[in-house]
Amino acid sequence: MAHLIEMATITKILLQWYFKNGRVLPWRVSPKDAETGKTPDPYKIWISEVMLQQTTVSAVIPYFEQFMKKWDSVEKLSQAKENDILAFWAGLGYYARGRNLFKCARELNNKFDNKIPNDKKTLLDLPGIGEYTASAIRAIAFGEREVVIDANIERVVCRLFKIEKPIKKSKKEIREYASKLFPEFCSGDFAQALMDFANAICRPSKPICESCPISRSCLSLKLGEVENIPVRPIKRNIPIRKGYVFFTKVKPNKLLLERRPSEGILGGLLGFPTTKWEVKKNKPNLPFKANWTFTKRVVKHQFSHFKLELEIVIGEKETLEFDNSKYLTVEHQNFDLMSLPTLMRKVYAKAINH
Ligand code: SF4
Repeated sequence: MAHLIEMATITKILLQWYFKNGRVLPWRVSPKDAETGKTPDPYKIWISEVMLQQTTVSAVIPYFEQFMKKWDSVEKLSQAKENDILAFWAGLGYYARGRNLFKCARELNNKFDNKIPNDKKTLLDLPGIGEYTASAIRAIAFGEREVVIDANIERVVCRLFKIEKPIKKSKKEIREYASKLFPEFCSGDFAQALMDFANAICRPSKPICESCPISRSCLSLKLGEVENIPVRPIKRNIPIRKGYVFFTKVKPNKLLLERRPSEGILGGLLGFPTTKWEVKKNKPNLPFKANWTFTKRVVKHQFSHFKLELEIVIGEKETLEFDNSKYLTVEHQNFDLMSLPTLMRKVYAKAINH
């Protein structure tokens, strides 16, 4: 019982801290605005939560604002062109999110009259919506009781209760503790309180324990273990894949691009043609006739489960005489670099001045 009273105290203190210190974000309704009867827009909560998966709040804010200028409702998003959404998503990375977002908007348009449902099972059946996003939408947008746990909340819970295993191996334990912290009402406010607290005070490195409003309850602080928690997993070796990328200038002033196959990494996105990405770097088959120069310049990029090294091969062509259904050319001065994924932007930056 004493344990539960302590949990209730932590919850109360964090909510009070949030009402005073919570961040003002473009998709949120601040506690002050909520008092005037303003309620969160489920569409904005959905879009922001998808953008925030693996991307920081500060990086998301400008994208979110631009996104809302283009597509401010489920209906508009469902009528967009998939390639426009993918191009928009290029700077955020993790393109599967952009593709699923579009599929989800279509489904919401077809089956749900352009509304975001608040039933958990229905949400989980939608493309791109997993446990975390469904809980966040239900708690923040609809005020339903949910236990919302993202990577930042995991860190706070691990430190608070001194969980001495890597996060991946403590998911069940973290959920049990978090379930006791999340209140019956205002789960949304509490989720946002924990997120803001994790960002401002219980930061990934150098948490500001001296300003922490719940320091008296923090077991890691009491036992001098703050720096060791969360426990870091043993690093595994990430495999390296290699290949070539063909950066081709077509006279007088064009660049040659291809749209990658819709399946697989960077699927459906524009980029410079590449060979296959393989463990061993094999001599490449050149994709078409051109005046080729092997530059020995290598672009390195890390994906979630492998590192990629592509050597740049510069090509120069007089005209584009071959079947161009596979390739397209763009005028260099009209070229929108931001429509390319990060890997291809790195290629451009390294190749352009060669
Ligand atoms: S005392 Fe430090 S480690 Fe513990 S919850 Fe507060 S900020 Fe985090």
